[in-house]
Amino acid sequence: MEIINLRQRMMSVARQIHREGNRTIGFVPTMGALHAGHLSLVQAARARCDVVVVSVFVNPAQFGPQEDFASYPRDLMHDSALLDEFTVDYVFAPTVEDIYPKGFATYVTVEGLSDGLEGAARPGHFRGVTTVVALLLNIVRPDFAFFGQKDAQQAIVIRQMVRDLAFDSEVVVLPTARAQSGLALSSRNDYLDDEQRSAATVLYRSLSRAAAEYDNGERNPARLIEAVKSTVATEPLARLDYVSINDAETLDQLDELGDRPALISMAAFIGKTRLIDNVILGKAQKQDASGAKA
Ligand code: AMP
Repeated sequence: MEIINLRQRMMSVARQIHREGNRTIGFVPTMGALHAGHLSLVQAARARCDVVVVSVFVNPAQFGPQEDFASYPRDLMHDSALLDEFTVDYVFAPTVEDIYPKGFATYVTVEGLSDGLEGAARPGHFRGVTTVVALLLNIVRPDFAFFGQKDAQQAIVIRQMVRDLAFDSEVVVLPTARAQSGLALSSRNDYLDDEQRSAATVLYRSLSRAAAEYDNGERNPARLIEAVKSTVATEPLARLDYVSINDAETLDQLDELGDRPALISMAAFIGKTRLIDNVILGKAQKQDASGAKA
């Protein structure tokens, strides 16, 4: 495994792999502080591709001024050791200056899809995400790029960007990895103490309650949203930021649930830590561990 810090080196490695022909590149972009959720993407990339590249880059452009860019957990040594165990070929860990050199002036925005939900709660967030993912896709030029359903809106926004700008990469989205408690794995869980970690299970509990009501035939989004709100209200350490039900592909707000899969997504504060989670209601396409459609 080689750790690459410079985009020039990463680009020349990718160019070489493509020139040799017949070898596919699988790419997993991350911000590090790796957990089993990230590693499930790495495993899928390993199973499907000849060469696996994982980027570790805490992207300042996707953090708001009041957010946790400075304190975001960073441990490249530990991450690299884990990735080595998972037989990753290249870790791309550039500096901020290498990605955004002086004079950097080009940003990528996916209009519409970036505006609601996380985009509304975190202005500029998706502009930062799409800009860095566009850059990384140009640097690594992967055949397949792997993302987690944990960040459902992000996956939808990136799919749209890849389609619109004709990136020569296929986006693969894999299921949310959870702790036994149901808590969605997240690097930001590192901020939680034991009591908060137990309180944080209320996100998935509340979504599961809405999903159970849906499975029992409830089709009124307002009642499903109420199920989430009332469950979160039982947890004194939790404060709901938003909960929303949207079409799982277009993110259109839904007044009524029909046949199409719906995304129920939420954000909540546990203390100062903001966590997100989501589940799909209705017949979403299942994906197996390699990302292939079942
Ligand atoms: P991050 O390091 O948070 O930017 O995440 C890097 C990638 O890992 C993104 O595609 C995330 O959606 C994905 N990811 C993060 N947490 C999970 C999880 N619990 N399960 C599956 N994928 C995840």
